[in-house]
Amino acid sequence: MQTVCCVCQKTKSQAGWIQGQSSKETRVSHGYCPDCFSRTMEQAQGWLLARNAGNHSMALGR
Ligand SMILES: [Zn+2]
Repeated sequence: MQTVCCVCQKTKSQAGWIQGQSSKETRVSHGYCPDCFSRTMEQAQGWLLARNAGNHSMALGR
């Protein structure tokens, strides 16, 4: 089964993640390449931090 990054559409091969290579596999699994995974994690962390910061300031009532 071929793994394709759902963000940048890179496909996972034995040599690593390759951009712009159309998959010949019929069974494709969508995931994240390491680049997009860390980027997504950073974004998610930023959202959580922003949300937490908002909650804190509201809880403090300042
Ligand atoms: Zn990617």
